[in-house]
Parts: sequence; C-alpha cells; structure tokens
Amino acid sequence: MELKDQKPPKELEPIIDYEDCTDYVPSSVQLEYEENIRRRMKARRRAAERRRVNRNRTIALILLLIIIFVIVRSCTKGSGENDKEKDQTSSVSQSEPDKHNDVRDSSAGKDKNGGSVRSAEEHKIEQSNGMTFVDGILIVNKTYSLPADYDPGVSAAAQNAFDEMSSDAMNDGIYLFVNSGYRSYAEQVELYDGYAYERGVDEADKVSSRPGHSEHQTGLTFDVNSTEFSFEDTAEAKWLAAHCSDYGFIIRYPKGKEDITGYAYEPWHIRYLGVENAKAVEESGLCLEEYLGITSDYADAENTYSYDGDTTGAEGQDPDNSAYSSDYGDENGGNDGYGYGYVNG
Ligand SMILES: [Zn+2]
Repeated sequence: MELKDQKPPKELEPIIDYEDCTDYVPSSVQLEYEENIRRRMKARRRAAERRRVNRNRTIALILLLIIIFVIVRSCTKGSGENDKEKDQTSSVSQSEPDKHNDVRDSSAGKDKNGGSVRSAEEHKIEQSNGMTFVDGILIVNKTYSLPADYDPGVSAAAQNAFDEMSSDAMNDGIYLFVNSGYRSYAEQVELYDGYAYERGVDEADKVSSRPGHSEHQTGLTFDVNSTEFSFEDTAEAKWLAAHCSDYGFIIRYPKGKEDITGYAYEPWHIRYLGVENAKAVEESGLCLEEYLGITSDYADAENTYSYDGDTTGAEGQDPDNSAYSSDYGDENGGNDGYGYGYVNG
C-alpha cells in the first residue's frame, strides 16, 4: 500500500504535505544498506540454485547406480543358471556330499533367505553325485533316485530327533518306536525283486519302491510302530501327526495326495527335514512334491531300474515283508490304494 493513498487524520492535514513525500531522496547510507540486502538475497538465490543442482546430480547418480546394479544382477543370475545346467550334466565332478548332508539335515531354508534370487514358484534343483536336492532338500521318490552306492546309514540328526520325540511322547503316555528305518540299496533290491518274482513288476510297484527309489535309503526316514492301515486310528498315529513337525518330521505320504506322492497314505512313514522345513511344509498343507514343485513318477525317472527276473524271494528281509505275505490274499480291491497296506516307500 502506497503512503500517498492513505488519507491522514483530519487534524494533521495542515501539518504534513503528502505530495512532498514523492520527492523523498534516500541517504547514501540507506542506499548502501539496500544494496547490501540485494546482494545478500542474490547470494542466497545462488546458493539455493547450487543446492538444487547438487540434489539433481545426486538423484541422477543414484539412478545410474541402480541401473548398473540391475544389469550386473541379471548378468550374474544368468551365469548362475548356466552353472546349474552344468551341475545337472556333469554330476560326477561335483564335490562335498558332506556339505549337502548338513544342508538337508538342518535347514535348507537358508537358501531361501540368502544368496540366490528367485520367485516363489522357482525351485532350485541341484544334482550332485547322483543325488537330487530341491531347495537344498534331498529328494527321493519315483522320479528321483539315489545311486546304488549311497549308503549313509541312519542320519544321526534324524535319530536324535526321533529319540527326543519318542521320549516326549512317552510323557504323554504314547509309545513310539522305529519299525523300519534305514534300508540299503541291496536290501531294497532283495525286497523289491522278491515281490516282482512272486507277483510281477506291476504288483511289486504297488507295494514296494524300486531299488534306489526308496526314501528309506536316505537314512532320514522311519516307519513308526505299525505299517498296517489300522495304525491310522490309534492314539499313537494321532500324536505322531500332531507333533512330528515339532521335531523336524513330516508325514511323507499324506491322505488325499496319493496321486502326487505316488504312494498310498502311510500314517507311519515319517521323513526328517529339520524343524524349520518340516514346519513350513506342514503349514503349507502341501505334500513334499507340491511344496517343492516336483513330480513322483517312474515314467519321469532318468534311469529306471529293470528287474532281471532271476532273483529269488526275500522272505524275512523286512518287517513289512511278512505283513505283505500274510495279508496280500485279502486285499480289498486295491484301486483306492488301501488294498496294499505295506508300501515300502
Ligand atoms: Zn516307509
């Protein structure tokens, strides 16, 4: 608002002539002061401009770094996949089965959180010395087998977990014991060929794993108490199903997943995965094949075992075997998978 626009109070009118104010000339001190202010404002503007430029430069640099990071990462990921392919083709040159033992015995979940980047659907399949690890978990089923000379015996970690579990079960008045644990390739040959000799390969496949395809050869698997379907309704089976993941085990062949696991429901057959993995599988509600995104089918197996027909029967080789021999006659059709209570998964 200009000074001259203002109307002065009436009583002062004669004293101040406002027209004179237009002729006002500032003193040199005032001019210097104004010039100073102007200089300072200019300096401040320049500083602000410098800051703005610096900020933009920083943002550009960060963007550049992100772009470089993304490019480098996609390159290393690509070469990682190449390595994986190499692993699958040249399995013999692979090293350190001990390292894999540690991984499969404790927690393969490490893989998920660390190093390799992948989406939820991607699973890391590694083959080493004829064994297959999916996300660090040793996998044995109808698609994936173990070499004949893989002979680890019972895993100490699995045995300790079982002992702890059975001791805690005992406190609840539940008695759990190992019916069948580690089984060597040679034992499985005798078992399977015995069935094949008696009944033919198709029937043998319904009740027994082919050699190399039995999870019992991993040393990480136990058949608990009874391998008859009546086990399902016992307090022991219920306790096992409710608590085994607390000790690192899963019921490996769940009910309703027969077509995916390739095996009938086996409430007695538990597989050691370590607590972290067992909990994760249990919480997922999936069977291990679904959880790892793999199949279980002999048709997919790389080198399918061939029965030569020369081997004689194997009576008494396995607790499951005697049950098989005595109960085979009253099988109830078999189409639902429950006719054969003695699958040696
Ligand atoms: Zn079993």
